[in-house]
Amino acid sequence: MIDLAEAIALVESTSSPLPPRRQRLLEAVGRRLAAGVVTDCDSPPWDRAMMDGFAVRNADVAAVPGGAAPAVVELDVVVDLAAGDVTQLVIRDGVCARIMTGAPLPPGAEAVVPVECAVDGTAGVHAGGRVRLSDPRFRAGQHVARQGAAFRRGQEVLAGGTVLRAAEIGLAAEAGATHVVAEPRVRVAILQTGSELVGCDREPAFGQTRNSNGPMLAAAVSLLGGEPIPLGIAADKPEAIRAAVAQGLAADVLLLSGGVSAGDLDLVPEIFRQCGVEQVFHKVRLKPGKPVWFGRLVRGAGEPDTLVFGLPGNPASSLVCFELFVRPAFQILAGRPRDQWHLPRATAVLSAVAKAAPDRPVYLPCRLGHVDGGLVATPLPWTGSSDLLGLAEARGLIALPAGGGRFEAGAEVEVVLRW
Ligand code: AMP
Ligand code: MG
Repeated sequence: MIDLAEAIALVESTSSPLPPRRQRLLEAVGRRLAAGVVTDCDSPPWDRAMMDGFAVRNADVAAVPGGAAPAVVELDVVVDLAAGDVTQLVIRDGVCARIMTGAPLPPGAEAVVPVECAVDGTAGVHAGGRVRLSDPRFRAGQHVARQGAAFRRGQEVLAGGTVLRAAEIGLAAEAGATHVVAEPRVRVAILQTGSELVGCDREPAFGQTRNSNGPMLAAAVSLLGGEPIPLGIAADKPEAIRAAVAQGLAADVLLLSGGVSAGDLDLVPEIFRQCGVEQVFHKVRLKPGKPVWFGRLVRGAGEPDTLVFGLPGNPASSLVCFELFVRPAFQILAGRPRDQWHLPRATAVLSAVAKAAPDRPVYLPCRLGHVDGGLVATPLPWTGSSDLLGLAEARGLIALPAGGGRFEAGAEVEVVLRW
C-alpha cells in the first residue's frame, strides 16, 4: 500500500509520449501532423469551368477594341460538356462548347461566357445548334480556374505541426492523402471482469449486475480524445481473463476493472504477472479506490510499453481512479502539456459538514456554487463506492486529507473541478 501522491508520481514517471503514428486521415481529426502532406496533383487538376455557360475563344467575344458595347457574336455549339465529361474536340474561332460548372475546358477554349449572356436564352441550345452571345463585362480568360492555380503537384500543402481541422482534412483529401503521420490517438482496451456482470441491454437476474464500468470508461476515454477498444466482460475464470488480457495488451493502455482486491476470485494481479506485466504498485491509501493496480508491459526494441490499470470493480471507485491515475497517464501518452495532465483544483468553502478518514485521503462528490465571489462546495448525499448517482450529480470532488475528523460548514477544503 502506498500514498496517493507517490502513486500519482509513479504513474507520471512510468508514462511517456507515444511516437507519432501513420493513421487513416479521418482518425487524425483534431490532431497535430508530425510530417507535412505533399500533394500528388495540381489544384485545379485541369483548367476548370467556374460557371454554367459557353466555352469560347477570347478573340470571338472580346469587346470591339476601343468600342463601347461589345457586339453580339453568333457561334456554332459543337459539344455539350457536363461536369465529368471530356472531349477531344478543339474549340476554334467561330465555335464554342456548352459547358457546366466543374467540367474541364475543352482544348482551344480560353474563357467561359455565362448562360445569362445568351441573348435569346439557352432553351434548346445544344451541340449542333447556334447561340448568340453578348457579354458586356467580358475579360480574357474569365470564369476559368487555371490548372495548378491553387497548388502544384509535389508541393507541401500542410506543414508538420498543423492541427487537422475540417478545412485541413478536406485539403489533405484533395491532395490524395488517405493516411497521415500525426500525433497518436491513444488506444485504450477496456475489459471488465466478473461472473456476475451482464450487458446494459439485459434485465439482470437475481445476483447479476449490469456492466456500467464498460460504457463509463469508454466514455471517459472518448472524452479525452482516445480510441476506446471495448473487450467486453470476462467471467472470473483464469483462462477467460488471461485470453482477454492478452488481447488488451496490444493496445497502448489496458483498463481492466474488477478482480483486483483481495478476495479469492480476485485473480487479476496474478494473471497480469503471468502475462509479463510488471507491477508498479498495488493498493493506494485512497477512498474510494484503494484496490487499484498499476503496471506496464515492457516491449523493448523501441516499441512503446503498454500501461496496465487494474481498477476496482465498484463503478464510483473505478471512475475516481480513472481521474486520478488514468487521466495523467493518458495525457502524457498523448503528448499533452503538463498543465493538462490533471483535472484542475481550487479551494472552496464547505456549506455542510464532510467527514475525512483516519488512514487515507477521501474524495467526495459535491455541487459547486459561487457566493460573494468565492467557491462553495456542497457535499452530495452519497452511499459510497458503488453509487454512481452521486457522482453523476457532482460538479466537483471534495478532496479531504487523511487524518480523520470532521470538516465543518465554513471550513476551507480542496476541490477537484470540471468533474
Ligand atoms: P470487484 O472489484 O470485482 O471485487 O467488484 C466490486 C463490486 O463492483 C462488486 O459488487 C461487483 O459486482 C461490482 N462490479 C464489478 N465490475 C463491475 C462493472 N463492470 N459494472 C458494475 N459493477 C461492477
Ligand atoms: Mg469481481
